[in-house]
This record gives sequence, C-alpha cells and structure tokens, in this order.
Amino acid sequence: MSKHLCSYCKTVIGKKLLSKNSPAPDELVSLINALTRKDNEGYCQTCLPTIIKKEEENTRRAISEIIDAIPVITIHTPQSWNYEILGIVTGQSTTGTGIFSDIESSISDFFGGQSVTYNAKIAEGETRCFSQLRAKASALGGNAVIATDIDYSELGTSTGMIMVCASGTAIKLMNIEILGEEKTRRIHRVQKMVNYLNKINSDGAEVIGKIDSFIYNCVSGY
Ligand SMILES: [Zn+2]
Repeated sequence: MSKHLCSYCKTVIGKKLLSKNSPAPDELVSLINALTRKDNEGYCQTCLPTIIKKEEENTRRAISEIIDAIPVITIHTPQSWNYEILGIVTGQSTTGTGIFSDIESSISDFFGGQSVTYNAKIAEGETRCFSQLRAKASALGGNAVIATDIDYSELGTSTGMIMVCASGTAIKLMNIEILGEEKTRRIHRVQKMVNYLNKINSDGAEVIGKIDSFIYNCVSGY
C-alpha cells in the first residue's frame, strides 16, 4: 500500500490530478529520488517543491558549518602555493553598534561594556564578510582567498551603524594538501556540497517547471 502514500508527508496520495495531494508524475519522482539519493515510490505533487527547498536548506547549513576551512588571508603571493586566479570576491556587512542609542545612560559605559559590544559587533561583521568571501570563492570553484583587504566605515554620524567591507582574490589552490590533512578533507567536502547545491538548483528548477507545465496541461485538457 506504500505506493499510495506520499513518502514525504505520509498522507494518502489523492487520485484526482488537481487535488492538493495529487500524485507527482513518475518522471519527477525519479528525478527527486536521484537528487536526494532515495528510492521512494511516490510523492504528492505539492510536496516536491518543499522537498527541494528542504534539501537546499540542509545543504546550505552543512556547507556553512565547515566553510571556515577555506583560508582567507591577506598575503598577496603566499609562499609555495601553486594556484590559479579565479577572480575578485567581495563581502559586506552592516551592523548597528547600539552605542548611540544608549549614549544617555552613562558615558563611562562607553569605556566599559559598550566598547566590548562595539568590538563584538565589528568582529561579527568581519566574520560575516569572510563567510561571504568563502562562499563566493567556492561558488567560483575556488578553495582559498588571498590578498584580502578589509575596510570599516561609519554610516552617517549619528546612526551607530558600522559597515564592514572585505574584498579578496579567489584562487584555486592546486597543492591544497599544504594546508594539512583535516583542512584538505573539509575543503573537498565543501566543494562537493557546493556542486550538489548547484545540482539541486538546476534540477529543482526543472522539477518545479515541469510541475507547472503538468498542472497547466491538466487544466487545458491535454
Ligand atoms: Zn506529500
């Protein structure tokens, strides 16, 4: 009986083609199974976009957990690195420091607790910028960022907003083992998952496009 249950939402798949839980065409079930490396028998049509979205989210999360392995360095020509230059990558982050909003409380706060907050916010902005550099470099097929430059600017004089900008050169490091076994392993994993994410995006778009035309054909009587 499992054939009539959606493998994702576990409800009975409807018989009517245009009901909310109508069966997804076999072709799309195979596509989803191939993508998610599963061997399920059936899904309802409306679950397919959710499955794709969830797979994408999970992959993004998994990438973000290990993407720190990608080196971001300020050196322009690191010694004994053999690499190919891929292009410029940039990152931006804007954060409210909270300094100006609380300035009335006490000026001494500025030298105590507030400056700690201030530094923490800047550090947070830097981290976010570096993550963007890593993500963009890996999207280009790279595995490191060199010649990184970082800039800070205040947005206006009384907003308390700080903008952190970073830019660097994405490269593909050929002798990646120079970074050590653990980092090499994690960077390879990032690259694998980025490729998978691209596949989710392209196959996902195909599935969603096909669902739309499938529904359209049903409505128009084909
Ligand atoms: Zn379902």
